[in-house]
Amino acid sequence: MSKKIAAKKGILVRQLKIIILLISKYIGLFSLSRKLTSNGLRILCYHGFTNSDESLFRPKLFITERLFKQRLEKISKMGFSVISLDKAVSMLESGVVPENSIVITVDDGWLGVESIAWPLLKEYKFDWTLYLTTYYAEKQTQVMNVAIQYLCWKAQKGEYDFSTLEGFNRTIIQLKNEADSDFLTQDLIKFGEQLPNASATQKFVECVADIFNKEQSLFDQSNMFYIIGMKTAGLMSADGVDIQLHTHRHTLGGTSKTALNKELTDNKNSIQKTTEKRLVHFCFPSGYYENMHLSWLKEQGIISATTCKPGLNYSNTPLLELNRFLDGENISAIEFEAELSGFTELLRKSRSFFKMAS
Ligand SMILES: [Zn+2]
Repeated sequence: MSKKIAAKKGILVRQLKIIILLISKYIGLFSLSRKLTSNGLRILCYHGFTNSDESLFRPKLFITERLFKQRLEKISKMGFSVISLDKAVSMLESGVVPENSIVITVDDGWLGVESIAWPLLKEYKFDWTLYLTTYYAEKQTQVMNVAIQYLCWKAQKGEYDFSTLEGFNRTIIQLKNEADSDFLTQDLIKFGEQLPNASATQKFVECVADIFNKEQSLFDQSNMFYIIGMKTAGLMSADGVDIQLHTHRHTLGGTSKTALNKELTDNKNSIQKTTEKRLVHFCFPSGYYENMHLSWLKEQGIISATTCKPGLNYSNTPLLELNRFLDGENISAIEFEAELSGFTELLRKSRSFFKMAS
């Protein structure tokens, strides 16, 4: 199936799903689901917040201020109590599931968390946890791979001269279609990954931006694709925001226990300078983990870890494999409500029941 046909099919399936959800809500299935799943803890996951076009570039990674505000309003109107991760985990540890409760988590620490999420969550008086990755927070340079993906996504079709990018193996590059752009993105990221340090990587990103930037301003260098600085993290912590662990370089370090321990130690040492809170909650970078990582985290004193697996959390959900709902600009209002009401959870459970039975 061609990419275009697959995309069209995807849109149709999505539209059908939305119609089914609207009907389900109308006939009362959302209210019923809410009652049936009140003993399931909802954990929401957000990443970046924006007022620019990052939400068009990566709708799963960025959410607009307007939509995020609508989400908070919905949570409030639906009468959920938003509780801290600490409280939720302590309750789950003692075998009690907080009823009708939501935990809000934010991953990474993209700059918009300071200007958009923090004030809004404060306005709603919601507790929340920020899982902070600290390499880029310390270096204060742009997150290279995402910045490069954005520049290639934004670049117009045409011919570009890369001869100013020293050491890069290609010079004149034609971008005729999406495949050319994807290929160039991969090539550039590979090149960026072998650069010796953060300042060389930042110069590289700026050089690529300049090459694409001949005709138009593609890139607001001042505020896109940065992670908040440690000073801001300190201010947030003093204001009551719970800052927790997400590894230093946004990786578990593969299958090496030593590498994972180093990632955790570097991350902890960095965050510890900004907060007096105990650092015992962890979030798997990109949701990736294997069984061995669970016991290594336990040895390091980690009490809870959140994944990117969808689902509610019950008294028997392992604390090191908590489920979360990944919200973003790609999720419609009705899909969000279906998730909060527990309707989607019941669909998931019935699907896995029929899979098991077949
Ligand atoms: Zn992350």
